[in-house]
Amino acid sequence: MDAPVDTLHRPLRELRISVTDRCNFRCPYCMPKEQFGSKYHFLPRSSLLSFEEIHRIVRIFASLGVRKLRLTGGEPLLRRDLDRLIRMLAEIPQIDDLSLTTNGALLTREAARRLKEAGLQRISISLDTLDEEVFQAMNGVQFPLRRVLQAIEHAAAVGLAPIKVNMVVKRGVNDQAILPMARHFRGSGQILRFIEYMDVGNSNDWCSDAVLPSTELLEKIHPEFPLEALPSNHPGEVAKRWRYVDGGGEIGVITSVTEPFCEGCTRARISAAGMLHTCLFASHGHDLRAPLRSDAPDEQLRQLIGGWWEQREDRYSALRASQNTIPAKIEMSYIGG
Ligand code: SAM
Ligand code: SF4
Ligand code: SF4
Repeated sequence: MDAPVDTLHRPLRELRISVTDRCNFRCPYCMPKEQFGSKYHFLPRSSLLSFEEIHRIVRIFASLGVRKLRLTGGEPLLRRDLDRLIRMLAEIPQIDDLSLTTNGALLTREAARRLKEAGLQRISISLDTLDEEVFQAMNGVQFPLRRVLQAIEHAAAVGLAPIKVNMVVKRGVNDQAILPMARHFRGSGQILRFIEYMDVGNSNDWCSDAVLPSTELLEKIHPEFPLEALPSNHPGEVAKRWRYVDGGGEIGVITSVTEPFCEGCTRARISAAGMLHTCLFASHGHDLRAPLRSDAPDEQLRQLIGGWWEQREDRYSALRASQNTIPAKIEMSYIGG
């Protein structure tokens, strides 16, 4: 099978793998503690893809055209010996961009150094505010803000720069933090990215009133720090790039709700349990773990994956506004954003 394209002519270029469905935070927009409490059944260890299984799958995806790989979760740094997995993945020749998204809670200087040495190229750290009280409410476990700010410093110190700092913006919850965050990260070399609050999963009680459109967000920043648009780095780039006119660096806005980018979406996702999802908002997936564990040869897996990609029709965000009934969707903590 050659590199597949889907029904909307989109190739398969990027892969996100969730290495665990567990998390040490309970962000209300992702894993609200009411639903993800002590009685919640997380996946048993035996259900998770092993490092060897992940490595094999990524090799096969790379042979089908994947060049960018991101590890995520749940919280990926909860997966023991993650640096061993990174070392294995960094050796796959076609993968030219290997990155990780984390909440930073476990990112000590030593952990950052091990990830870098194993071959991690880039890191995104999530941070929604600089207000201690709001941050503790938004992480759901009263985790101190200072520790995430330190994690950003550790990542920078070991050379994982430029770091992307991901801020999900919820109207009425942390929109007051937009300007303080812009001021804090301007000139730091880190790229702040504002993400529109999305209706992923079914747990977060999403409502469109809580979405702050990116145009409104840019209007808040522009009077204090004039901005100008930058061209995208590559086709299919999700964030729209802006730079401070005075040379204070760049920011990104991810307009998944108000200006969907399904047209250029070349991304597949694999859940911690080995389900392939061809859209973040998918209500079902394709089981990769079963054929992997029944010793299917590589070529058979290539055919399966390529065939699924060729059938892909997903463009959920582009259709969101016109949908009356929304089917049940996979939770963000399973497929990792
Ligand atoms: N635990 C890691 C973290 O928080 O960075 C990685 C997994 S998390 C699911 C990946 C990204 O998705 C984070 O930046 C998070 O803020 C974002 N996210 C989670 N729920 C979201 C939602 N409902 N809308 C927009 N972004 C969301
Ligand atoms: Fe955990 Fe990340 Fe989800 Fe927050 S966004 S609950 S840190 S997986
Ligand atoms: Fe891609 Fe689905 Fe998001 Fe559209 S809604 S950009 S198809 S993941």
